[in-house]
Amino acid sequence: MSGTPGPLPTHSEAQSVVIVDDMPENLRLLTTILKDQRYKVRPAPNGARALATIRKEPPELVLLDIMMPEMDGYEVCRQLKADESTKDIPIIFLSALNEVFDKVKAFKAGGVDFITKPFQVEEVLARVKTHLTLQAQQKALALQNEALLKKNAHITEQARKLELLATRDFLTGLSNRRDFLNRAGQEEKRFKRTHRPFSFILLDIDHFKRINDTYGHDCGDQVLIRVSRALEKALRAQDILARWGGEEFICLLPDTGGEGVGYAAEKIRTDVECLICDCIDGDDAVTVTLGASVYDGSCDIEACIRSADNALYKGKNKGRNQVVLAG
Ligand code: GH3
Ligand code: MG
Ligand code: MG
Repeated sequence: MSGTPGPLPTHSEAQSVVIVDDMPENLRLLTTILKDQRYKVRPAPNGARALATIRKEPPELVLLDIMMPEMDGYEVCRQLKADESTKDIPIIFLSALNEVFDKVKAFKAGGVDFITKPFQVEEVLARVKTHLTLQAQQKALALQNEALLKKNAHITEQARKLELLATRDFLTGLSNRRDFLNRAGQEEKRFKRTHRPFSFILLDIDHFKRINDTYGHDCGDQVLIRVSRALEKALRAQDILARWGGEEFICLLPDTGGEGVGYAAEKIRTDVECLICDCIDGDDAVTVTLGASVYDGSCDIEACIRSADNALYKGKNKGRNQVVLAG
């Protein structure tokens, strides 16, 4: 990313100005006055020539006579404002004092200012300088704005990545324990409103140490990923799934009581049992033991998860690869 945008420029050398006037003496006079001040000046004797020279190389400012034969200043201005590449160039209208001059129409056409003829040199220079400075500052602001927008997008993206790191398990891409507990807390709040029970399933891969020892740690990692995908597939979209730690996973099933959680846990058990992991011999099945509990508001979430953990422990003792319901 680029650093902080620089300060606003107050003056820049050789700023370019196009002067449009059908009276040759006016054109000469204004050209001389501005050239003396080191502006880069391009004169144009009529509207068509003005449009051509401005489109070829857009200047920083246009001094535009209003009364001209064929195409008047309002029309030149309208065409410049309608074109994306010239619409931001400030236009100062020139009009003779004795001409019927509609100031409102001039501003409506897109002019920023007007100068009446005959000119006063100081007035012309002051108005030209003011509008060139304003224009330069506007451009610098637009650049600063663009840089800030880019910076903002970068910060938003970094924040999103940080959020992901803080809530995800790196290996499996599942929620981590912290994120799970957060979301379980929200379910607990919802229960206070709805009194609809929800359930927990805690599951642990059987003899996972043996998988690591026999087939290597990378194979163990692959098994963790395969089991994670199988769990995602077995559960419903509204269920909350997380890696609880090591080779343990946890699920929260909203709107689910004892019967539903028993059914879901048994489905998970058989799905995992049928998994084929490339790094493991065909006759060595991956199995999981599952403990389930129902949250019905009679104790808190931590106690409910502890009940599921105790049920899981019972399942391990009873021979693994099975579902045990708490209580
Ligand atoms: P049980 O059936 O009683 O659950 O036995 P187990 O072998 O599965 O349980 P144990 O707690 O003895 O071993 C778990 C192993 O999981 C030990 C640890 O090194 C391994 N493990 C934990 N996290 C990871 C991981 O991210 N990747 C791999 N490959 N192994 C892991
Ligand atoms: Mg285990
Ligand atoms: Mg374990």
